[in-house]
Amino acid sequence: MKTKVIALANQKGGVGKTTTAVNLAAAVAERKKRVLLIDLDPQANATSGLGREKTPGQSIYSALLEEVSALSLIKVTDYPRLDIIPGEVDLAGAEIEIARSDHYLYRLNEALNIVIEAERYDFIFLDCPPSLGILTMNALVCCDELLIPLQSEYFALEGLSVISGLIQQLRDNGGNPHLEIGGIVLTMFDGRNNLSHEVEGEVREHFKTAVYDSRIPRSVRLSEAPSFGQPITAYASGSKGAEAY
Ligand code: ATP
Ligand code: MG
Repeated sequence: MKTKVIALANQKGGVGKTTTAVNLAAAVAERKKRVLLIDLDPQANATSGLGREKTPGQSIYSALLEEVSALSLIKVTDYPRLDIIPGEVDLAGAEIEIARSDHYLYRLNEALNIVIEAERYDFIFLDCPPSLGILTMNALVCCDELLIPLQSEYFALEGLSVISGLIQQLRDNGGNPHLEIGGIVLTMFDGRNNLSHEVEGEVREHFKTAVYDSRIPRSVRLSEAPSFGQPITAYASGSKGAEAY
C-alpha cells in the first residue's frame, strides 16, 4: 500500500487538530497500520502529547532545509507501529527561512519523498500549526488529503470557507491538483448543547458526505491525556473519546 499522507489543518486555533492528530494516529496504529506523526507546530503539543521530549535541532526543520534526511529524524514512541518526527520551537524560524528559499511550498514534499519511497508507513499524519503560513501550506501541497477538525461552536463555518478557498486555489494553480477535503471531523461535540447540534446540521448541509459520521465528544479524559504524555487509546482505552477516534 502506498503511504497516504493526511494533513490536519484549520487556521483557527484550539479546535482539536493536535488532539485529533495524536489520537487518530494512535488509534490507526493500534489497528495494525504503520503510522508516522509529524509535528509541524512550533508549540510541539503533539510531541509532548505522545510523551516525547522537545529537543533542539530534532524537528523536521533541518530536513526542510535539506541539511539532513527526514528518515534520520524519526523517533519511536512507546506505542507499537507509531513513530514521530517531533516538533520544536525552531520550526517558528522555518517559516521565515523557507519563505526565502526556492520552491518554498514544496520543501516538505521533497523532504518526505524519501520516507514515502522507503514504504515504511501506511499513513503519515501532519499536525499543522494554527495558521495558513508556510508550514501549513507545505503540508497542503504535499498531502493526499486534508482532514479538518472543526470545533462544534459558533463561527466554525466561517473558518471553513477560508480553507476551502485555499484548497481551490492550490488546485487551480497546480500547487496540489489532487488536493481534496478527505473529511471534516466535529470535535468537542456536546450532545446536551443545542449549539453543537446546530453547527452539525449546518456543516452537514454544506459539506454533505465530507463530514465524518463519528463526532468527537467533549471529554475530560481527552483533555487530560496529553499531560500524561499518552494518547487516549492508552490513557482511557474504553472511554467514549477513544472509541470515537
Ligand atoms: P492549536 O491551534 O493551538 O494547535 P489545536 O487545534 O491543535 O490547537 P488542541 O490542542 O487539540 O487544538 O485542543 C485545544 C484544547 O482543547 C486542548 O486543551 C485540548 O486538550 C482540548 N480538547 C481538544 N479536544 C477535546 C475534546 N474532545 N474534549 C475536551 N477537550 C478537548
Ligand atoms: Mg495543535
